[in-house]
Amino acid sequence: MTSLRRRVIGLGCAFVIFGGALSAGGLWTFGGTIGIWGIIAFVAGMFMQEPDRFDPEEVASWRPSAAPMANAGRTMYRVDTTIDEPIHTTVLCGSCAHLAEMDGPRPATFTCPGCGLLLWEDEEE
Ligand SMILES: [Zn+2]
Repeated sequence: MTSLRRRVIGLGCAFVIFGGALSAGGLWTFGGTIGIWGIIAFVAGMFMQEPDRFDPEEVASWRPSAAPMANAGRTMYRVDTTIDEPIHTTVLCGSCAHLAEMDGPRPATFTCPGCGLLLWEDEEE
C-alpha cells in the first residue's frame, strides 16, 4: 500500500512537470490537461490512507540488504533492533557485508564474526 501511494505521488509529480513543460512549449490545452491530472493524482496520493504502518510479520522478517558499504575512513556498520517483542537485532558489517542476527537488544560490544573486526564498543559500560 505504501509503495502504491508513493508511486501515485511520483506519477502525479511527473505529470505536473510534464504538463508544465508542454504548457511552456505552447501546447496549453494538452499540457494543461496533463498537469491537472497530475495534480489530481498527486492530491489523491497524498490523501490515500496507509492502513497498517506496521505489519508485525513484515517487521520481524525484515533484514537489511547485505551489501558492502563505502568505507569512510572507519568501519561502517548498520545496526537494526526491533522495537516490538520479540526483540531482535541485526548487524550488517560494512567491511565484509556479513549479516549477523541475534536475539535481544544491541550488545555493548560487537565483533564481526565474518571478518573479526570490532565494530563498536560502548565506553560507558
Ligand atoms: Zn565483517
